[in-house]
Amino acid sequence: MYKTIIEPFKIKSVEPIYMTTEAEREERIKAAHYNPFLLHSRDVIIDMLTDSGTSAMSAQQWAGIMVGDESYAGASSWERLEYEIQDLTGFPYVLPTHQGRAAERILYGYLGGEGKLFISNTHFDTTRANIEFSGANAIDIPTPLAKDHDSEYHFKGNMDLAALEQTIASTKDQIAAVILTVTNNSGGGQPVSMSNAKEVAAICKKHNLLFIIDCCRIAENAYFIKHFEKGYENHTYREIAQQMFALADGCVMSAKKDALVNMGGFLALKDNALAEACTNLLIITEGFATYGGLSGRDMEAIAIGLREIFDKDYLHYRITSTRYLGEKIRNNGIPVLYPIGGHAVYVDAGLLYSHIPAHEYPGQALVCELYKKGGIRAVEIGSVMFGKYDDNHQLVPASMELVRLAIPRRVYTQSHIDYVVEVFDEIAKNAKNVKGIKIIKEPKFLRHFTAYFDLL
Ligand SMILES: *Cc1c(COP(=O)(O)O)cnc(C)c1O
Repeated sequence: MYKTIIEPFKIKSVEPIYMTTEAEREERIKAAHYNPFLLHSRDVIIDMLTDSGTSAMSAQQWAGIMVGDESYAGASSWERLEYEIQDLTGFPYVLPTHQGRAAERILYGYLGGEGKLFISNTHFDTTRANIEFSGANAIDIPTPLAKDHDSEYHFKGNMDLAALEQTIASTKDQIAAVILTVTNNSGGGQPVSMSNAKEVAAICKKHNLLFIIDCCRIAENAYFIKHFEKGYENHTYREIAQQMFALADGCVMSAKKDALVNMGGFLALKDNALAEACTNLLIITEGFATYGGLSGRDMEAIAIGLREIFDKDYLHYRITSTRYLGEKIRNNGIPVLYPIGGHAVYVDAGLLYSHIPAHEYPGQALVCELYKKGGIRAVEIGSVMFGKYDDNHQLVPASMELVRLAIPRRVYTQSHIDYVVEVFDEIAKNAKNVKGIKIIKEPKFLRHFTAYFDLL
């Protein structure tokens, strides 16, 4: 009945935001070589660089931090976390790691190697990096429906099932695992439907292939299933997640997302032999099997976060407030990927700044404008991040010039978001006057983190 999305929490502990003027911000972004990764966080007003590890913990989680059991082996905090993950996922073997990519390195490093192949709706960048580092190949097969950025279709995170069958037919003996990333982070934070997950599971079963879920945002994904897929209206979000886990052979998770903590991750598996092999690697590189890369207090906070994330009021607030931001700026003429996903809004900077060619990096121009105009920090996901050079040192652009506004969990209120909307009004008005950007110094790999830029 009421339109205001109220945050379903009260604020007990606060952190200051330091206000800056536009003139100050012009100086600071210049000093940071026009790369927001090089800004000091205290110079940022609204930080939308990532939703990873930036969540606010609850009073319950902070209380859990105090009761964390720091015993080397068999800690009660480990028992609590293990039980919580087994109960949620249904997988009997749980391996704690310090963050998601450590779980990925252990599992995909073990399964991968030269000549092996992994298939996903879209591999997240650390997933792809760990697979390729092992010598294996990673193939992305998102649904072709994801290409239409304006259609109302709700499950643009789905895997292309026809492509899956085709890939299996031509390369079956090489396939190490099929990975479904829910929600599909690199594909715009778009959800995966239960029916798609079921079909992927059936195809994997038919061909005897390992099916792994990258479950970083499975609670956010469950929200979309309950509200937009027929047959799930009467299931709880947690039951929906459990039904999805029941389809798979295992999962990897970065707890920095939907476990509402600042650090942590895990791997959970159905098969005893695979779990044993992975546990050996865990002990070599992360830590003993009952803590991995985590302290007891971290495990306590993750166990609590994994319960809190499925709270219906929280998830409603989370998904509707992300949508609120996306719809508002879209209505004000900012082109965005549509429908709005779970954890972020993706702005199409290539369309907004259609006068700036890819080799002048419209996405980087937009992240600089967002900082200058409003102290907002966002990340370019376009030709700075994914562009490559050909043999003549000409840029081969990324397929899209996007800017991601990721929303930290439980951190900002509606007035912060309304402020972002207002800044975008300025951005829209000023769009035609914005100029491109050039790279003046860059490393060979992952250049977006450390490159220096200058204005054209
Ligand atoms: C963040 C993320 C990872 C990697 O996790 P880290 O905790 O950052 O190492 C893997 N997959 C997806 C989908 C992610 O969003």
